[in-house]
Amino acid sequence: MEKNEIYNGLINIVKSEYVKMDEPLKNHLYTQLGGKADYLVMPTTFEEVQKVVRFTNRAGIKHTLLGNGSNLIIKDGGIRGVVMNLKYLNDISSEGETVVAQSGARIIDVSRHALNESLSGLEFACGIPGTVGGALYMNAGAYGGEIKDVLDYAYVVDKHGELVKRNAKELGFDYRTSNIPENGDIVVEATFDLTPAKYEDVKATVDDLTYRRESKQPLEYPSCGSVFKRPPGHFAGKLIQDSKLQGTNIGGAEVSTKHAGFIVNKDNATTADYIAVIEHVQKTVKKNFGVDLEREVRVIGEDK
Ligand SMILES: Cc1cc2nc3c(=O)[nH]c(=O)nc-3n(C[C@H](O)[C@H](O)[C@H](O)COP(=O)(O)OP(=O)(O)OC[C@H]3O[C@@H](n4cnc5c(N)ncnc54)[C@H](O)[C@@H]3O)c2cc1C
Repeated sequence: MEKNEIYNGLINIVKSEYVKMDEPLKNHLYTQLGGKADYLVMPTTFEEVQKVVRFTNRAGIKHTLLGNGSNLIIKDGGIRGVVMNLKYLNDISSEGETVVAQSGARIIDVSRHALNESLSGLEFACGIPGTVGGALYMNAGAYGGEIKDVLDYAYVVDKHGELVKRNAKELGFDYRTSNIPENGDIVVEATFDLTPAKYEDVKATVDDLTYRRESKQPLEYPSCGSVFKRPPGHFAGKLIQDSKLQGTNIGGAEVSTKHAGFIVNKDNATTADYIAVIEHVQKTVKKNFGVDLEREVRVIGEDK
């Protein structure tokens, strides 16, 4: 299909102001890095998500999901095909002990909603800068809590464009992972099962976790959070610190001097710089301690 034919097909599904061609993705990523998307599409209903999936299937082009871009590194050559962002699907509501959030809602806002309803269970998510969709995909977690502890079920659009309900077990959650990528599902809504609590108690936990996060993380620079998963029996940050890698930089990307597990875009880095720092850290830690550091952050797209 010609480029204009694809564009016209997309604006027949989603209003034209929500379809962009050759969109620089660095404007949408926490790292402020990465090339362009051929098409960026922002559906506003579940039906539009379904129609975009069916359209890309028929046209034989790929679709890729972009949440809040807080756990993604996109290569400098960008992404071919359609990138979908669900930021306009962002309703949050609750009934009794249940909170329902659409995929593009920020998990921080869902956590705040739970606090305001005096519900406990999502305090751990009060500082995780992703969307509900990205949080389910990654089984995001912090300070001993993770999505799998509180998710009841989700609605997804499957790879054929069908709207399907999946319970938490069916989503295959494990440490910072789920089976959402292998099934090719798109999360459109999540239902969380929380516990009634005293507002002051939930607030005290949120305040404590916020203080701990703000005092330890280099939030003043663009980054994608902790780059590596926790290796069994070790802490990634400690291995990096003990390897004296803090402050190491390539181009404008640097191992944070404040939190060794973070790599920051300190000075107009390219994705190639960022990946070079990641690989240097992996090699050095392997040489010093014999430990393989597995990336938590997802790297997608094409080289320039
Ligand atoms: C400063 C900072 C602190 C962080 N702290 C934490 C932390 O404490 N704990 C933690 O777990 N993470 C943390 N992260 C990482 C990140 O916030 C989480 O992994 C978050 O869940 C990613 O959500 P996102 O919307 O930004 O996803 P993105 O980065 O946009 O995408 C991540 C993956 O999810 C997929 N995806 C996104 N939306 C959907 C959808 N609707 N359906 C299907 N797939 C989808 C994308 O295709 C991609 O593969 C931190 C990041 C930063 C920058």
